[in-house]
Amino acid sequence: MAKFIFTTGGVSSSLGKGLACAALGALLQARGLSVRLRKLDPYLNVDPGTMNPYQHGEVFVTSDGAEADLDLGHYERFTNQNATKFDGVTTGKIYSSVIAKERRGDYLGATIQVIPHITDEIKAFILNDSDNVDIVICEVGGTVGDIEALPFLEAIRQLRNELGHDNSLLIHLTLLPYLSAAGELKTKPTQHSVQALQTLGLRPDILLCRSEHEIPEDAKRKLALFCNVAYENVICANDAESIYEIPLIYHQEGLDNAVSAAFGIKTAPNLKPWQDLIIKLRNPKAKVRIGIVGKYIQLKDAYKSLDQAITHAGISEQIEIEKLWIDAEDNALLSKIQNVDGVIIPGGFGERGIEGKIQAINYARENNVPLLGICLGMQLSVVEGARNELDIKDASSTEFGHTNNPIVARMTEWMSGEQKQQRGISDDMGGTMRLGSFPCVLKKDSLAYKLYGNPQIEERHRHRYEVNLKYKDELEKKGYIFSGMSPDGLLPEIVEYSPHPFFIASQFHPELISRPFSPHPLFIGLVRACLSA
Ligand code: GLN
Repeated sequence: MAKFIFTTGGVSSSLGKGLACAALGALLQARGLSVRLRKLDPYLNVDPGTMNPYQHGEVFVTSDGAEADLDLGHYERFTNQNATKFDGVTTGKIYSSVIAKERRGDYLGATIQVIPHITDEIKAFILNDSDNVDIVICEVGGTVGDIEALPFLEAIRQLRNELGHDNSLLIHLTLLPYLSAAGELKTKPTQHSVQALQTLGLRPDILLCRSEHEIPEDAKRKLALFCNVAYENVICANDAESIYEIPLIYHQEGLDNAVSAAFGIKTAPNLKPWQDLIIKLRNPKAKVRIGIVGKYIQLKDAYKSLDQAITHAGISEQIEIEKLWIDAEDNALLSKIQNVDGVIIPGGFGERGIEGKIQAINYARENNVPLLGICLGMQLSVVEGARNELDIKDASSTEFGHTNNPIVARMTEWMSGEQKQQRGISDDMGGTMRLGSFPCVLKKDSLAYKLYGNPQIEERHRHRYEVNLKYKDELEKKGYIFSGMSPDGLLPEIVEYSPHPFFIASQFHPELISRPFSPHPLFIGLVRACLSA
């Protein structure tokens, strides 16, 4: 049977619980254990798919097509294994499922209540398909004290009793704020959040303490005493320069030792791959500047996977990458683009900012600046080509309103495996996009083929619109190549502009499958092109 580690957060949000879980997962893998990471999100949305990126950061997409919390991206990157739609759940999803069962008559005769019906549903989610792994790490989103999280914490309380106390651990991630007037780190907020947990019947076994300063010995002793935690289980989690240093830092501070001691794990960790990665990260041989022209740039979390994919390519090529986040609506956009070695046009939704992106694409294309377009970035690359090479001045996407020249159009039918997916024009917004992994066939001798070194690839998608094949022949006469297509030849997946040294755009999101130990070929290609530009 698997052992379970539950992680809660206290004192403040944004402490990096997802990263902490991901790093712990990596440390346990380094000891030869298999892990599965799961996220319980207390908000009421069924999934984060319809949330504004400013609210909740990027929507991560799993290969099996779930729109998921961005923490699943951290889990995948640190553990190098795919998450599934069974690894993330929200209050909305739990309630939907319980209510659907009630309507079906599954609970006939019963009054449906939070305890036991909602808590049972949560426990079933946590336990689902956990027999084949050594350790399940289960993160509870939000902060202890939030009303929404109560059913999740109650489910964990019940589960800890049912699993037996040797088979589960509770890690509480907390913040020790530094009061400069007093010149010290304060432990009181942590004491209070542990008290809040205890009133719910949950006692943390390990305190993972985030702080901007070293935690002095006496503060650790105080925390152990007042929070009823063993002294060696009070772990410092100081800020790291790079998130990829976190596993090594946590190891040094004793986190995986504490977990191993509790679960009787005897294997020693092999951290050599992480150490080698950090050596590469710290010793860049050159530097390039990459401009990312987006519209959610005020919140870096909105481009989390993209940011990481660029970093991975930099590490693997040993190149320091300066990322310049450029607002697509910035009046000085062009002068900023003139100052970078390469450009990325990321995915996005809606009309705002598209003219700026098209301007950036046009500049990069005409001036041989390496360009990688992603999803909306590919759609706009084709719109730009149609406007400026085919002279179709009103070329546009139906996403931005009516157009006589829909270079990009709403897709209502596509193949997903053997199954045909169909959508009506006015269908619900949630969960109705082309989502998840789809195969793509690459054209021989194209840049894409050269970069991937493979005739067929699988990449993850999240979009409603597709490039219209009607304009393909005309564009190809101008030097564009539709170098990646869906296997049935109906959906364009990669478009290149062959007169250019590196102009490539994909309908899928390559950033979603880039990992520190397997960086993505499109990003590596971009970094190399920036170096030789
Ligand atoms: N808005 C576009 C679509 O839905 C692109 C989506 C994206 O960039 N992820 O097709």
